[in-house]
Amino acid sequence: MRIGILGGGQLAKMMALAGQPLGHEFVFIDPAADACARSLGAHRVSDWSGPDLVNQLAGCDRVTFDFENVPAESLATLADRFDVRPSPKALEVSQDRLAEKQLCASLDIPVAPFKAVDTRPELMGAIDALGLPALLKTRRLGYDGKGQYRLAHSEDLEPAWQSLGEQALILEGWVDFAHECALTAVRDAAGEVRFYPLTHTLHQEGILRFALSGSPANAPWQDSAEKIVHQIMDALDYVGCLTVEFFVTEAGLVVNELAPRVHNSAHWTIEGSVCSQFENHIRALTDMPLGAAHSRGSALMVNFIGQMPSTDMLALDGLHWHDYGKQARKGRKVGHATWVLEDFATLKRRADELTAHLEPSQVQGLTGLINAAG
Ligand code: AMP
Repeated sequence: MRIGILGGGQLAKMMALAGQPLGHEFVFIDPAADACARSLGAHRVSDWSGPDLVNQLAGCDRVTFDFENVPAESLATLADRFDVRPSPKALEVSQDRLAEKQLCASLDIPVAPFKAVDTRPELMGAIDALGLPALLKTRRLGYDGKGQYRLAHSEDLEPAWQSLGEQALILEGWVDFAHECALTAVRDAAGEVRFYPLTHTLHQEGILRFALSGSPANAPWQDSAEKIVHQIMDALDYVGCLTVEFFVTEAGLVVNELAPRVHNSAHWTIEGSVCSQFENHIRALTDMPLGAAHSRGSALMVNFIGQMPSTDMLALDGLHWHDYGKQARKGRKVGHATWVLEDFATLKRRADELTAHLEPSQVQGLTGLINAAG
C-alpha cells in the first residue's frame, strides 16, 4: 500500500524503515526541506493545512501522522477522502490536555486532579481547590516539558501567568510518584490488541532521557496498565499504536498523557521485541496480522539530546545506534541507542560499561533509574 504520513521526522523515518520490507511505499508531508525521513519515500514540502493537502496525498491508501500537533481539522477533512488511522477523534482528544483528562475521568481511570483555567480568577480558584505545588500547563501544543510552569509558592503565580496566561490552560495538582512508566499497545481495525511490556521511563527537564524494558519494579503494574489502555483504545475505536504515560504512586497508576502514535518510550522495541512498535503500527494501518509484542530480554534506550555522542559506544555488544541525521541543536532529539541484554540482572551488573560513555548528568539519571527499577 501507499501510506501518507503527516510529518517527516524520525518517527516517520522509523515507520518507513519498518514498513518497506512489508512492501509498502511512503509519502511524507513536512515543511522542512531537510526532513529526516525524506530519503525513504516521496517528500512533499508543505505544512499540514490548506486545500492542496488532498492533492499531495493523492494515491495514498492510508494516512497517518508522526506527531500530535497536526491540525485536527486538516485530519478531519482528509478523513472524507482517505482512510485515516488513528482517527481524527483520537488526535483531537490527545491534543487537548483537558479533553484527555475528561475522557479518562469518564472511564473511571485515575488522572491528576485538574481544573480548566482561562482567566486569572479561575487560576486563583483552581489553586484554592488543588493547593500548591501544582503545574500550570497549556492545554494544547505542549511537548517535551514546553508550555508548563511549576507553581511551588504564591510568588510563582505572576511569572507563570505572564508566561502562559494568553492561552487556554489547565492546572494540575502535583502527583507524588515513585517513578514513571509507559505502556504501548497496538490495536487493529477488528479490535484485536497486543500490549508491549511496560517501559520504565526517566524524564529530566520534561524530556525523556532513558527508557528501560524488563524493569522488575513495573512487573506488578502490567495488568492494570493493560486494562486502562484497553479501555481507552476501545472507547476511541483506536487503530494503530497508542502510548499511555503513567505515574506510579502508592495508590496505583495515574494516567499522565496519551500519545496517539508511535512513541519515543517504545523505540527499544525495534531491537528489543519480537515485532517493533513501528512494524505493528504499519501492520494495523494496513490490515496485516499483528506481530508478537513480547520482548527479547531487557532493553535500555538512551536518548541523544542536542548532539550525537561519539560512536565509541558501539563497541558494546548488543548496542544499536540510531542517528536521525538532524542538525545539532540544544534540546533537540537527534538520535538514540538501544542496548539489549538477556535480562535486567545482566543489564544492572554491566551498567558501568555503558555509563563509561555518558556525560556525568546522564550517569546520575541512569544510575537512579536502574536502582529504582530493581
Ligand atoms: P508532560 O509534558 O505533561 O508529560 O510532563 C512532562 C513531565 O513533567 C512528566 O513526565 C513528569 O515528570 C512531570 N509532570 C507532569 N505533570 C505532573 C504532575 N501533575 N505532577 C508531577 N509531575 C508532573
